[in-house]
Amino acid sequence: MQSLSFRYVKNYSTLAGNIQTMSRPQNIKAVFFDMDGVLYDSMPNHEYTWIHSLKEYGIDFPAEEAYMNEGRTGFSTIRIAFEKYLDRSPSREEEKAVYALKTKLMAERPKAPVLPKMQELIKVLRQEGIQVFVVTGSRQPSLVEKLSAHFEVEASNIVSGADVKQGKPHPEPYLIAHERCGLPKENCVVVENAPMGVESAKAAGIYTIAVNTGKLADKVLTNAGADELFADTKTLFKSFC
Ligand code: CA
Repeated sequence: MQSLSFRYVKNYSTLAGNIQTMSRPQNIKAVFFDMDGVLYDSMPNHEYTWIHSLKEYGIDFPAEEAYMNEGRTGFSTIRIAFEKYLDRSPSREEEKAVYALKTKLMAERPKAPVLPKMQELIKVLRQEGIQVFVVTGSRQPSLVEKLSAHFEVEASNIVSGADVKQGKPHPEPYLIAHERCGLPKENCVVVENAPMGVESAKAAGIYTIAVNTGKLADKVLTNAGADELFADTKTLFKSFC
């Protein structure tokens, strides 16, 4: 692998009038990966289950909204959807019912595959002695087993929804990962796919690489503060190797 230093941001050239010359930290020693939409292609399942659970309540939830709200708690997304599309708040019963339906539909979806080249990328980073963390708002009970089986990430290197008081876009999740790695922020980078995840990482003061695996316009991620942007995980992998 080539040095991780001074890799210029080629991909910004795809954004009209928004070419940047910022470079990555010179000496990366830890990478904090978001999970949904970065390690796993799981967002299509969230998109499907949001659209179909809210439809039952007369809400035509656009696919893009699933990606814009990625990272919020389920109840928070339901409240936003009701207020925006029905001009009213949901009752407590409606919140619970929509969430229960979404959970039921999710259990019926096929398992999300690992995104291309992410296992290879994590392997390469480890070979270079770089610490690998996963920072996710998810609270799935099977999280640790899944990440261990697919990416050999140990439990102590996982920051989940159960570890934080305030989820993304609050900086707490990434600040916890930073504290656990014991390194200066200058030696850390984050990989995110969602605008609220990018906001969280930037608020934590960490260099943030965005990979646009979803359905949002690139500018949504750069406006959220991403320092670099890649169109997919294959190009992300190439940028490290
Ligand atoms: Ca994500």
